[in-house]
Amino acid sequence: MKIERAHIIINPASGQPKPVLHTINSIFHAAGVDWKITITKHGGDAHRSAQEAVAAGVDVIAVYGGDGTVMEVASGLIGTGAPMAILPGGTANVVSVELGIPKNLPEACKLIVNENNSVRAIDVGFSEGKYFLHRVGLGMSAEKVKGATRELKDRFGILAYTIAGLNVLKDPPMAHYHFTLDGETIEADGISCIVANSGNMGMQGFSMAKTVSISDGLLDVFLVRDRSIVSIASSAASVADLTLNTDALQHWQARDITIDATPPQSTQGDGEVWDNTPIRISVLPHAVNVIVSPPA
Ligand SMILES: [Mg+2]
Repeated sequence: MKIERAHIIINPASGQPKPVLHTINSIFHAAGVDWKITITKHGGDAHRSAQEAVAAGVDVIAVYGGDGTVMEVASGLIGTGAPMAILPGGTANVVSVELGIPKNLPEACKLIVNENNSVRAIDVGFSEGKYFLHRVGLGMSAEKVKGATRELKDRFGILAYTIAGLNVLKDPPMAHYHFTLDGETIEADGISCIVANSGNMGMQGFSMAKTVSISDGLLDVFLVRDRSIVSIASSAASVADLTLNTDALQHWQARDITIDATPPQSTQGDGEVWDNTPIRISVLPHAVNVIVSPPA
């Protein structure tokens, strides 16, 4: 798409400690793009700036910051159709990796001004008034668990936190889960549950069992039934080779999900601690447009 006016929202607390304005200006100026910036200071600023930029009628809202800032801007753009562009900072930006957006700032800026770029509509998860882009974890997948190393994340993807927990706890607490998935009731015992919108842990080309897509309009529910998942996962070449719907790992897809558990389970959304179960989670399909690379 042709961009004439851009608004850039910068979280100065994220990314690398080096100036970015010169790079942005040199590329946007050369392309004849008029641009303005807002600097965020507090939580909520990015969300508000995104909405103001849409009201001002800009062609694209770009965000420079980590995943939290990207989520805030995305939440401000839901349903507006206004495209978001991601300028990855120095920190791992899971959304940009998932979407194949260049990691390097000049390349990401050039993608915005490239008239051949594409727009991809991504799904956003919603629960109890809050949004998430990646996943909600219940029970042992709660990401408070220390020890989910880079290696574990690379190897086991979104199961890394559960695996890390199981490596510590020899006798993990079981819960009885009661799911309502698009109106269908399912009862099952398990030690951990993950509801995923995005399967990527920051690795290009990696996604949980190749089933999780951030733009299929569905959430993926994984229930880890017992600790045999550790030996099964260890023997698989990668988590993409894990066999789903075995005694160790159950998998469903749904748009509207209610989960209750006995005893109540802790929950987390994108790393933030949320209230214990019961929890209702739904997907806002194709809620935000994102600028991505031209089709190969
Ligand atoms: Mg999906």
